[in-house]
Amino acid sequence: MLELRGIPVSAGVAIGQVFVLDDQRRRIARRSVSPELVGVEVQRLESALAASRDDLAAVRDRTRGELGDEAAKIFAFHIGMLADKSLTGPMIEMVRREGVTAEYAVYASLQHLAERFGSLGEGAFKTKVDDINDLAARVLKHLIGETSSRLAAMTGPCVVLARELTPSQAAGFQRGRVLGFVTEAGGKTGHTGIFARAMAIPAVVAAKGATERAASGSTVIVDGDSGAVIVNPDEVTLARYRRIQERDRLFRLKLDDLRELPCVTLDGVGVELLGNIEFPQEVGGVLAAGGTGVGLYRTEYLYLAGSGEPTEEQHYEAYASCVRALGGRMLTIRTMDLGADKYTQGQSENPERNPMLGCRSIRYCLQNPGMFKRQLRAVLRASALGPVRVMFPLVTTPEEFRRARFFLLEVMDDLADEGQAFDRAIAVGMMVEVPSAALCAEMFTPLADFFSIGTNDLVQYTLAVDRTNELVASMYNPASPAVVALVRKTVTAAAGARQGAGIPVSCCGESAGDLEQAMLLLGLGLRSLSASAPALPALKRLVRSVTIPQCEAVVAKASTLDSDVAVQQYLRDTARKIIPEAFDGRSVE
Ligand code: PEP
Ligand code: MG
Repeated sequence: MLELRGIPVSAGVAIGQVFVLDDQRRRIARRSVSPELVGVEVQRLESALAASRDDLAAVRDRTRGELGDEAAKIFAFHIGMLADKSLTGPMIEMVRREGVTAEYAVYASLQHLAERFGSLGEGAFKTKVDDINDLAARVLKHLIGETSSRLAAMTGPCVVLARELTPSQAAGFQRGRVLGFVTEAGGKTGHTGIFARAMAIPAVVAAKGATERAASGSTVIVDGDSGAVIVNPDEVTLARYRRIQERDRLFRLKLDDLRELPCVTLDGVGVELLGNIEFPQEVGGVLAAGGTGVGLYRTEYLYLAGSGEPTEEQHYEAYASCVRALGGRMLTIRTMDLGADKYTQGQSENPERNPMLGCRSIRYCLQNPGMFKRQLRAVLRASALGPVRVMFPLVTTPEEFRRARFFLLEVMDDLADEGQAFDRAIAVGMMVEVPSAALCAEMFTPLADFFSIGTNDLVQYTLAVDRTNELVASMYNPASPAVVALVRKTVTAAAGARQGAGIPVSCCGESAGDLEQAMLLLGLGLRSLSASAPALPALKRLVRSVTIPQCEAVVAKASTLDSDVAVQQYLRDTARKIIPEAFDGRSVE
């Protein structure tokens, strides 16, 4: 039995036979063609590019049918890259000028591009490397005439282990065939993780050595909650994980019964449960899981999945489809949060030295007013269709919030002049996700209509721990006293806002969907939590199993503990006592 560890990116346990996807990127040797054949070689290259674009159009259409428009945009982006003369021109030029084979020109050009992106670090750059490798394999398939993937050779349901999975491989998985997957490369923000979650397949990334240490046909367990990958498990471990699978199944069944029940604590305090989404297609899942609205729509995926800036109409269509799906429930649209680990193609060409502290989020929007206003126009137009709120990410100073709001007012005037409908009373809120905003929260309450606490960034900026860096992952502690103090400050400011009237405050960071952290948030006074759809049923279960004084006691006790490990252990033990089914068989046994 061998246990490897990686980063869990999609929850659940998969047990099955290993299928090692050893689609190694092949090295193509440099070979020349005779001068009279150069023209033929250029034609070969052009036909391979055209055939690849046709393939991609088919994958795009199939993905659109299965996963929706947003996911399909990744392939539209690939098609765009292959149609982009600045990418294909140099390949053709290389064949003409240097007389090399078409395959070498494709290999060398794309390899060079992938290396450039690869050298820029983790995060979204890594995603670009995957995109480029994907494209190279596809074009080479047409030139060399072999299938680029062994996935087609998979016969029964399997757990796929791969060095890395390209977006089209992940999207090409047939439902029911792939039980789970493990990659050696990748991070939490990659496309593959997004697909895994959308398809509800347990997945672990960054599990080093997985493909070398597990042979095809052996048994493997993938724990998408803890990041464990267990190859050739012994009988005891196998039995334990089968029990976990069964308990997960029963737990989910029981949670289904809760869907229609109110989300109130044992002492009768109502808690609002909202959903976090990246794609409009997720709204249905949020409602099915018992969410009563969307508390965070991460609109940057409109930019990341596509080939460039979305048009106003594309923004509008996405927002309108959410509003329609929500049928009168609230949609909270966060304006684009680009930068840091979520780069656009354009931004990645000019990398910043310290992007986490750089021109990201609202800062980027304020420096690119044309782009910002296009999004705001669409948000406002969608507000005519049903309840919509808008919020700005990473607000650091009141001045910044005022400027962002000013742009919104300008856009309102433009729309009014054009006779377009919109909700002039739209609520305008802000994310509280940097310490300066939390520390001075009462300076923002006269300006903002609501707060949404983004613990993901708040933790990273408070503790100076990069949330995407696995080397410091153990220092990333949402229950740290410093973070707790900032959340408390924000909630208190919101409660006392505007001469006692108060403004609504929610939490939409990962902590809100985490059973252990959620108790702390309830104890700190939060009555609205926003999390991804799969987390909502268990969260409701937690709310219905606790009293507010109990949660306040948890906060009081946690703040007496002076070590991160002790706090985490205490929170886990407490949550475990309240909902043992959610933990049973997982941590200790
Ligand atoms: C957060 O920072 O907590 C948050 C919800 O935003 P994101 O994870 O998109 O940065
Ligand atoms: Mg954030």
